Amino acid sequence: MIPYSRQQINEADIEAVVSVLRSDFLTQGPAVPAFEQALCDYTSSPHAIAVNSGTSALHLACMALGVQPGQRVWTSPITFVASANCARYCGADVSFVDVDPQSGNLSVQALEQRLEAAERNGTLPHLVIPVHFSGAPCPMEAIAALGKRYGFRILEDASHALGARIDEAAVGNGHFADITVLSFHPVKMITTAEGGAALTCDDSLAESMRQLRTHGITKDAALLEQPGEGSWYYEQQALGYNYRMTDLQAALGLSQLPRLDSFVEARLARARRYDRLLRTLPVQRPPLDETSSWHLYPIRLRESAKRQHVFESMRAAGIGVQVHYIPVHLQPYYRRLGFSPGDYPNAEHYYAGVMSLPLFPDLKDDEQDRVVTTLRELLGD
Ligand SMILES: *Cc1c(COP(=O)(O)O)cnc(C)c1O
Repeated sequence: MIPYSRQQINEADIEAVVSVLRSDFLTQGPAVPAFEQALCDYTSSPHAIAVNSGTSALHLACMALGVQPGQRVWTSPITFVASANCARYCGADVSFVDVDPQSGNLSVQALEQRLEAAERNGTLPHLVIPVHFSGAPCPMEAIAALGKRYGFRILEDASHALGARIDEAAVGNGHFADITVLSFHPVKMITTAEGGAALTCDDSLAESMRQLRTHGITKDAALLEQPGEGSWYYEQQALGYNYRMTDLQAALGLSQLPRLDSFVEARLARARRYDRLLRTLPVQRPPLDETSSWHLYPIRLRESAKRQHVFESMRAAGIGVQVHYIPVHLQPYYRRLGFSPGDYPNAEHYYAGVMSLPLFPDLKDDEQDRVVTTLRELLGD
């Protein structure tokens, strides 16, 4: 099976993990802070907090931003459920903003319209979570300007977008978001097996997330609320979790990160090649965005009624296509919260014909040719 995405693991990655196994610390050793520093260096963010998944990073980010029951959090319906669930973990009311029909990213126009209505009704959001779907950056400058005007905070879900650029600068630098979240799941841009990170320019948000990832505990003498009682002393100051990343994972991430730019380059080269090869097929290609990290290559079938047949036949032919995403508001859990079909027509229309083709750094030309040939035959071209 040619998967839709796949990690690249080399001998140096294996050696990096093995050397942690031979060392004194499997967790809470030197590899996690070294990986965090490397993420800071790459993104130009002053703080990186590595955790055990992207989902954990989203949860910590919402907690640090003070998301709580009675608050409103808006995100895109074309995303993985975790982008919305993080606000539900904190008891907030989740709602969605419809997407741009071309990119599948949260539409700034739709956001502006909803904000105008919300201002009239007194239902402005406290937090908006834009998602860089497929790795193509959302128009963050415009979203940040709306954030200033309407007073909401911004949590950027960059799970797809490590290595993507906005105005030539790396996503995650904090210019347009309070916190940026990354995922290191094996299908994503670099991997730590499971893993994630939160990036921020704000010292107190960073400190809060650092404590919350380890039970809400601090040992920092400068932060203690009560007088210290000895060098064993620590304080639990909030109700946190165990969301720590292990040193095994961090060593893998640290070994992968120097190859990130070459991964993005290889993905872009294959996206360009798809763009050429698919030109004569009855499909809509994703915009050839050179600032994207190209996590996904989502095409849309002109005849969405054919999607199920094409999908099953591609799978039967050993091609691991995937659908990104079933709109989150149509999931049973969210329907029970009051959402229904028709709520976000652009997202539902986008979903109807979408299918991700295999795209990853080591995808070979002949494999890519086989994907296109199989698709061409199925679409009767
Ligand atoms: C993968 C992903 C996440 C969650 O990441 P995990 O590391 O799997 O927890 C969150 N949001 C989006 C958009 C994702 O694609």
